[in-house]
Amino acid sequence: MATANEQAQDLALAETRSSSDSPSSGGAQSGGAQSDSGLAGQSRQFRLAVDWLSAPDADATRSSAETTESGEESGECGEEADYLSVPSGVSYLIGPNGERPRVANSAGRNKRRAVLLEPLVDARPPAMVVIAGDLADVRVNGLRIPSWGMVHEKDQLQIGDYVLHVTLFNRTSIGPVHERHVGKECPVCRVHFESNTRVFSCPTCSGPLHLQGEETPEKDRLECALAVTDCPACQTRIEMTDGFSYEPELYRG
Ligand SMILES: [Zn+2]
Ligand SMILES: [Zn+2]
Repeated sequence: MATANEQAQDLALAETRSSSDSPSSGGAQSGGAQSDSGLAGQSRQFRLAVDWLSAPDADATRSSAETTESGEESGECGEEADYLSVPSGVSYLIGPNGERPRVANSAGRNKRRAVLLEPLVDARPPAMVVIAGDLADVRVNGLRIPSWGMVHEKDQLQIGDYVLHVTLFNRTSIGPVHERHVGKECPVCRVHFESNTRVFSCPTCSGPLHLQGEETPEKDRLECALAVTDCPACQTRIEMTDGFSYEPELYRG
């Protein structure tokens, strides 16, 4: 019985996926496409650095006395930036009401104070759809959005007393070339990829570039990924380490 239940859940999940996924994927009939898009989605992810509104510059002197008090009260002064991860597909940013915002897969009972988020990490540049829902005052870079808006890296999303700095976390992908690229040409050196070739995969288009290591004698080693600054196919900047492509400066701290 549990199995039937699980099957039903899987089916529901698959349905949600095929309806919410990118329109380019052919839906249910393209079996192999799902794992591919999953991989691509994981190499890059939107994150929101949680910050709060600073006092306007004009009031800086006047409010500094007050800030000391309220800062001690909340006990969060000088805290490290913490990031909310935005998963692929639809998720909900829940706030404000004095509570630290969080990202959840469903709005649940918090529907009235949830903002819908849908990242489009494969867009150029990567973008995220923000739907204000019942929240009247959702701002992007200080401007109120009517019902929905779009944010990009370095934008500031504001709900309640919180500012969320939009940034992207990139996960470097280095390893054997994916089988679908075996036999194809490297866009930099035009040498064909063999099944065991070690490559760097672009986080945006997943296109491979040679990045051979110790396994290849130094004189034969191809390190095309180090020879270019941007992916030749999609112009995404090539980063060799995991991390944020933009680290916001927070008001607090
Ligand atoms: Zn190459
Ligand atoms: Zn690329």
